[in-house]
Amino acid sequence: MGVDQLRCVSFAGEGYAGMVGQNMTQNTDWPRGEPLQDYSRVIDYERGTSVERFSRKPGLNPASWKYGPGWRGGTQLQQHERQTFAVSGEHAWHVDGSAKAVPAPESATLWQLDIWMTPHGFVRAARMPGAEPTAIWRWELGESGRDGATTGGIAKVMVVSATVLGKYRVNATVRAGNIVQRTQTRVPHPVLGDMNYEHEFTQWQDLGDGIVFPAGWHHHDGWDDERKVPVLTGGHNSFGGSFPVMEANSCEPTAVPQHVRQAVMPDQRVVPEELAAGVWLLGGGTHNSVAVEFANFVAVIEAPLDERRSLAVIDKIVELVPDKPIRYLVNTHDHYDHLGGLRTYLHVGATILTHQRNRMFYEAELLNYVPRMLEPDMVSLYPPTEISEGYTMEDVDEKYILGDGRRYLEIYYVQGLGIHVEGMLMAYLPEERILIEADLYDPGLLPASRARPTAAETALLNNVTQNEIDPLLIAPIHGDAVTWKAFLRETRQGP
Ligand SMILES: [Zn+2]
Ligand SMILES: [Zn+2]
Repeated sequence: MGVDQLRCVSFAGEGYAGMVGQNMTQNTDWPRGEPLQDYSRVIDYERGTSVERFSRKPGLNPASWKYGPGWRGGTQLQQHERQTFAVSGEHAWHVDGSAKAVPAPESATLWQLDIWMTPHGFVRAARMPGAEPTAIWRWELGESGRDGATTGGIAKVMVVSATVLGKYRVNATVRAGNIVQRTQTRVPHPVLGDMNYEHEFTQWQDLGDGIVFPAGWHHHDGWDDERKVPVLTGGHNSFGGSFPVMEANSCEPTAVPQHVRQAVMPDQRVVPEELAAGVWLLGGGTHNSVAVEFANFVAVIEAPLDERRSLAVIDKIVELVPDKPIRYLVNTHDHYDHLGGLRTYLHVGATILTHQRNRMFYEAELLNYVPRMLEPDMVSLYPPTEISEGYTMEDVDEKYILGDGRRYLEIYYVQGLGIHVEGMLMAYLPEERILIEADLYDPGLLPASRARPTAAETALLNNVTQNEIDPLLIAPIHGDAVTWKAFLRETRQGP
């Protein structure tokens, strides 16, 4: 491939973005986000940098998300069209329009790994000390065709494996002519555990000086063409495109902004707001949780993001309500940014309440003993007996009431939503008249240009009306608590 001649490469074209964990139903592919227009990427193998730039319609996804995993939902929506995502060594950042660069320390490792999973990057990485490369042969039967043929029929290939960044065992499938057609490894993910992560490369071009480089990129998060037991999620395609405008060995160095250089992973901030006696909105991040104290236990609505967030929220709940078990965790829906902490709550002894549609998926992929080796979480480190005993989950169908004779928490299936997700739940405290909802209405977070009410906001009003509940206050998973009146006003469904 001309690995020794290629110091850096730039390529450009049009791409697509797949939003991992945001599908409407579990057995469908990751939904395509807005197209990545005017996409370009510069990879400098000698300096260990990668800079991606593209244009994308603003207002629809978090600014920190480019494609694939790392969707964090919620606040800080992308504001401008032009987007930049960069990594240099251990420093990563993104830029929304021409605003100040935002450090992304949580993404640095993955984006760095991505450099060494390109064909030329892999060969360089496999030669580094500690890579311990091995090779085996096999015959590959090719693809069923949807993603485009990579082998062109049955062919003998070599699978070369090497340890990259001291942690990831990357496999590269090398076909005749010493072309790396596919690279594959696993990366840690809060929902899918050690998740399959792979690139396929096609449309090779001759760049002169013995260098060839692929214009066709196709990327999977999760197994390709899933739905093979025990895997139930259908999502896999999360990035791809054709980038035929290429140039070898003319790249400027990338300067890391000083404040990015100094950035560290921020501490989790959990800010409690007591909405009624024994009812707290736990904010401070992009996703809230709500804690409700009962006579002998605590129920929590939502375990978003990941274990780090969930441990911080649980610590805060223990501070507010010492010595009562967190007995129930109500999960509103199966989007991954609302799911990443379910295992952490299972670890502390909570039973997960979720819509019955989610049971098979959660049992198969989330609430089980399959070890997570790359970033072992609490359930991996301290496997709880409840998984064998079956005390992990209760299904909600239409309505479910948690109570202790004094306080009640009603859980409703959101009927007729028709968008966003199947199996959405909302919760209601009838005495306190507080409604808890996720993603149906995000107070004050939508750009002014969005037509109101949205379909989800209409569904929220319909479900409140049909269930004859009468909220005073909304405790949202995204945004600040607001009055029901403010909801009607902002969404133009009332005075
Ligand atoms: Zn959602
Ligand atoms: Zn959300």
